[in-house]
This record gives sequence, structure tokens and C-alpha cells, in this order.
Amino acid sequence: MAIVGGGVTGCACALKLAQAGKRVRLFEAREIAGGASGRNGGFALRGGAPAYDVARQELGAERARGLWLLTERYLDRLEQLAGDAFRRTGSLRLAVDSAEAAELEAEYEALREDGFAVEWRHDLPDPLAGRFDGAILHPPDGSLQPARWVRRLAARAAEAGAELCEHDRVESLDGLEADKVVIATDGYTHGLVGELDAAVQPTRGQVIATEPLEREIFPCPHYARHGYDYWQQTPEGRLVAGGFRDKALDHEHTAEEATTPLIQGYLEEFVSEMLGKRPEIEHRWAGIFGSTADRLPLVGRLPGHDRVWVSVGYSGHGNVMGLACGELVANAILGAPAAELELFDPARLLGA
Ligand SMILES: Cc1cc2nc3c(=O)[nH]c(=O)nc-3n(C[C@H](O)[C@H](O)[C@H](O)COP(=O)(O)OP(=O)(O)OC[C@H]3O[C@@H](n4cnc5c(N)ncnc54)[C@H](O)[C@@H]3O)c2cc1C
Repeated sequence: MAIVGGGVTGCACALKLAQAGKRVRLFEAREIAGGASGRNGGFALRGGAPAYDVARQELGAERARGLWLLTERYLDRLEQLAGDAFRRTGSLRLAVDSAEAAELEAEYEALREDGFAVEWRHDLPDPLAGRFDGAILHPPDGSLQPARWVRRLAARAAEAGAELCEHDRVESLDGLEADKVVIATDGYTHGLVGELDAAVQPTRGQVIATEPLEREIFPCPHYARHGYDYWQQTPEGRLVAGGFRDKALDHEHTAEEATTPLIQGYLEEFVSEMLGKRPEIEHRWAGIFGSTADRLPLVGRLPGHDRVWVSVGYSGHGNVMGLACGELVANAILGAPAAELELFDPARLLGA
């Protein structure tokens, strides 16, 4: 069996298949975690791209609940596998104004109604106080050191017998000698299957990391403005901030993995304003994730392509979903498809 892509999805899939005794070869054009899995903000969140109340409207109550339960199970699995690359901190969703505060309230109520843990935070500490109109804490969420986590997952897959071929780009599926092929390339999906290229929009995310700050100010991942602004502090004290994609949406719908002065400027302003001083920016980077029209991934057998399976398009929420879907697609290949896969059926967006 062959897997294309050495991020969280490909490595999770490789581990499952190898543990089941299959001969697995994973191809990665760069190195393990060279794509979004090693470049992301490190938020390990339950759920999908929309807030829970919105997901209930879009998917129906039962399917939304099923999706949230699936990701909570996979947060536990992540904790088991990731060791010190994962910290169970919870995450804080903040409201920048009263309209967003009303949206938080709707999510809070919906989560509580369906029995999920969630806490309302009225009194916000400095420097959040006065800047935000309220917050909710999602207790099951956590913080990842993403590259370390995915390298660790890859090492487990290798120990289980998977062959990891780095710096080995697959130019065409035709050349792959394998009875099954899994495409796990998320935002880097390009040039292998035309229908997939059309269904998965490459989307750029930009990030900065400051020098280590003197004290811990943000003990967990924070996000606001519908996730367009997000930040957290690493265990070494660096503030890692990303987002502001909405300031140039047309430009950020791109596969070009480069930072831009415009978005970097917004990020620098944001952290400076929050910290009350301009910190040294020690790292800057960009990464690409794959978005789909309904913000759900495409996971399963690719219609019209006999031996090809796929798991891509997490729409910016692939840390937990990538682990889940990498394992779900492996289980389906092994003959045990989970009920949740129905939600992600690629046929819904590929017109087959
Ligand atoms: C800046 C940024 C911030 C983000 N923040 C978060 C976050 O905080 N929380 C969250 O849940 N999600 C976040 N995401 C999304 C998340 O990172 C991704 O959805 C997830 O990492 C996808 O993992 P993957 O393994 O499917 O794909 P990737 O990690 O992107 O791996 C795909 C790999 O495929 C390889 N590849 C592509 N084509 C070929 C080929 N032909 N042959 C061989 N190899 C190939 C690429 O080199 C790449 O390494 C963020 C993404 C970005 C870019």
C-alpha cells in the first residue's frame, strides 16, 4: 500500500496499516511534517471548522454531536500518542465585540444542551480584560508542538514496519506499485487527481513567533474573530500568533508558501498591542491548508478511481481531524469503515 504525504494524516494512516501487518510505503516530497503539520498554530481542538451551534444547523444535531464526540475521542488518542508534544490546557474562544459575544453564547448553550464540557469566562485577566467581550473555555482542547508530535507519530509508524520515503515526490499515481493508494496531501494536493485539485482550495496561513517572554501570559491557545486571530505561548515562553487571513482573502487563497509584508504587519501590530511593547520576532513562516466548500474533509474511496483513497480538506482544523481521519481511512481500507465516514464521503463534492 502506498501513502502520499508525510503529515499527521499520512503518518496516522501508515501507523494503523503497518500495525495491521500491511506492507506500507509512505512518500513525502520534503521531510516528515514539512507541510502544514509542522507549520501550524498548534491548536488541538475538538470539533470541525464551524462553531458547534453552527455545525448543528449545517449538519443536523445528531451528525454534529457525532463529529464532536469523534474528535473528543481523538484528543484522548492524541494525548496517548504524543507524549510531551501535547499539553491538555483547554482553549479559549474570545469575543471581540458584543455581536461575537452573542455567538459565543449560542455555542455555549448548544454545547451544554448536548452534554459537552464548556465554561463561560466573565472576568478576563490582563491583557484580555477590556479588549474582549467575554470568552468560553473548551476544557478538552490542548496545545501541540506540532512538528515534534508528527515526527513522533512517524517514528511509531516506522517502528511498526512502515517504510518512510522522504524527499520522494510522487509525480503520478500510475507509477506507484501498490494495490491501494492513500492521498494525504491536504493543502498541497495538486497534480495527482484533477477532481481533487478542483475540490480542495489551497489556503495560506501565516505565523510569527516572538522571543521568549519574561512570564507566562497565555496558558492555553486563544482565538478570536471567528478564528481569524489566534495565538498561544509555547512552553519556552514564545508568543506564537497567526491569522489575519481575512485582511487579504484573495491573496491568501494561494499555494505559494511565502510570508507577505501586509499580513506580517498585522500580526506584529497585534502582538505589540497585546504586550504593550514591540517584541523581537524570531521566526516567521507560512503554510498551506486545504479548504472545501462545506468545510468538511473528503475522506474515503475516491469515486471512479479503483484503488485510490483520500483524506484531505480539513479547512484549517486538521490537527485532531487529521489523526482521526488518517486512522478512519486506514480502518476502512482494512474492511472496518466507521459510521462517521459517511459525513466525509468524497462523492458529495466530486459530483460522482
Ligand atoms: C499556518 C497554519 C496554521 C494552522 N493552524 C492549525 C491549528 O492550530 N489547528 C488545527 O487543527 N489545524 C491547523 N492548521 C491546519 C493543519 O495544519 C492541517 O490541516 C493538517 O496539518 C493537515 O495534515 P495533513 O497530514 O493532512 O497534511 P500536511 O501536513 O499538509 O502534509 C501533506 C504533505 O504532503 C506532501 N506532498 C504533497 N504532494 C506530494 C506528492 N505528490 N508526493 C509526495 N508528497 C507530497 C507535502 O510535502 C506535505 O508534507 C493550520 C494550517 C496552517 C497552514
